[in-house]
Amino acid sequence: MADPDCLFCKIVSGEINADVVFENDDVVAFRDINPQASTHVLVIPRRHIATINELESEDSQTVGSLFLAARDIAAQEGIAEAGFRTVMNCNAAAGQTVFHLHLHVLGGRSLEWPPG
Ligand code: AMP
Ligand code: ZN
Repeated sequence: MADPDCLFCKIVSGEINADVVFENDDVVAFRDINPQASTHVLVIPRRHIATINELESEDSQTVGSLFLAARDIAAQEGIAEAGFRTVMNCNAAAGQTVFHLHLHVLGGRSLEWPPG
């Protein structure tokens, strides 16, 4: 199931260290190594899924778990009421660089729209 060449699978297994802020049976969340806001957390499924394009209907609970984790992380980080952004990039044109599904949770500053 895990991809031996995948950076985020290695974070799930503990082979690579990360600053983990939340975890449960379905997901792990850790601080982005290159934060774009004072809170920048990545929420990933434990199971390797490369991109949104590879999602199957059986993954709906996993996707739900990513957002429920984002809700709890936003509360934990104190950004829920002020507001925060969730982003999931898919493939090169959107800027995806790590091909293991991840939901960015960004907050702690004013975020502009539209994104670049
Ligand atoms: P994306 O561009 O949407 O694929 O996002 C990948 C994110 O992973 C980027 O924001 C990177 O800064 C972040 N990242 C890459 N390597 C690590 C790492 N070892 N620990 C934490 N975040 C990472
Ligand atoms: Zn992976």
